Amino acid sequence: MSPHEHVTAFGTIDGELRVGGMPLSRLAARVGSTPFFAYDRGALDARVDLLRAVLPERIELSYAMKANPMPAVVQHLATRVDRIDVASAGEMHHALDTGIRADRVSFAGPGKTPAEISQAVAAGIIVEVESTTELRRVIAAGDELGLSPQVAMRVNPDFAVKGSGMRMGGGPQQFGIDAEQVPEVLAELAGSIDILGFHVFAGSQNLNAEIIAEAQTRTVDLVTELAELLPTSLRYLNLGGGFGIPYTERDRPLELERVAENLGRLIDGPIAARFPEASPVIELGRFIVGECGVYVTRVVDRKVSRGRTFLVVDGGMHHQLAASGNFGQAIRRNYPLIVGTRAADAGGEGVSVVGCLCTPLDLLGDDVELPADADIDDLIVIFQQGAYGLTASPTAFLGHPAPAEVLV
Ligand SMILES: *Cc1c(COP(=O)(O)O)cnc(C)c1O
Repeated sequence: MSPHEHVTAFGTIDGELRVGGMPLSRLAARVGSTPFFAYDRGALDARVDLLRAVLPERIELSYAMKANPMPAVVQHLATRVDRIDVASAGEMHHALDTGIRADRVSFAGPGKTPAEISQAVAAGIIVEVESTTELRRVIAAGDELGLSPQVAMRVNPDFAVKGSGMRMGGGPQQFGIDAEQVPEVLAELAGSIDILGFHVFAGSQNLNAEIIAEAQTRTVDLVTELAELLPTSLRYLNLGGGFGIPYTERDRPLELERVAENLGRLIDGPIAARFPEASPVIELGRFIVGECGVYVTRVVDRKVSRGRTFLVVDGGMHHQLAASGNFGQAIRRNYPLIVGTRAADAGGEGVSVVGCLCTPLDLLGDDVELPADADIDDLIVIFQQGAYGLTASPTAFLGHPAPAEVLV
């Protein structure tokens, strides 16, 4: 998608980008300092509504809060999604603070410590074990606390999903128990604990609907096989997610309808037949929040070096590692970026937008077309910043102040 398409999606007022219903310069004055992240409440609602409208009704939506753990965002989404997925005990506490029911929170991720596992068991959330060691720790925590743990098993599938920005299933992985090891683990330990079901997460940032659909079909096949080995019926079926969003001009949005059609077939077919007690869960981070946020940073210098114009901004990769190309991209491509106070102006001049860190890696826009008179004090807006922004960036590097975050 082009920057222009993002401007159209947000809209403009008085020639400026509209964020949270007001012109960008007014929002910036209210926030009081740059750089900042702004997340749009209405846009969050629209994303959840889109998913609800397109996906089959029986699908439960889980919000993977590591994508954006800002408390106000999590609180807002907690009332709109069915579940929250957390990746640490810290995230678990934030999730429970929203008031969501404990059995609607799941905890995935490798390297859960015994202390984290016992907190999770005590809280009554679903622990998605990533290894046999974790399963033993869950059993031990349950014995010690005198509680029946809520537990599901994350499985590393025997198939890989192509086209993910980050592959997290198939082949050797630190994530999940290898599918072929599951029978042995269940034979040994299923008698000591009630396993609710399975979770398969194949990868993140996938824009190819066919591949996502194929992964979901194969996941249902795999879980059908594994469920035979459980002494009880399956009550938890987490099909993963990985729905991507377009970051660069080359990316096309995911065709959600195609994913939904296939899910509909799975739900009416094998899932209804085999797993009547399990509502399938889709867990999404980026797809829900990614498009709902912007990063706003102020131009503090404009300089020309040997014929190349640089706009130097007060933010950078310490707040937005991904936009600099240093978070999972093999080839650096620009994220959509505009002069937000002149959103209506067409581009005129190719410039480099760089951050304020002492490294050439701190590049936010490489030869981007911006209005020719873009200068000091202009506000640069980078789109698609609602996910994996602030908390996925090296904020302590160089010791600049933390940016503000607002939900508007
Ligand atoms: C990170 C993660 C997610 C969220 O991925 P997105 O690409 O942000 O949707 C979901 N599930 C698990 C297990 C994860 O590790």
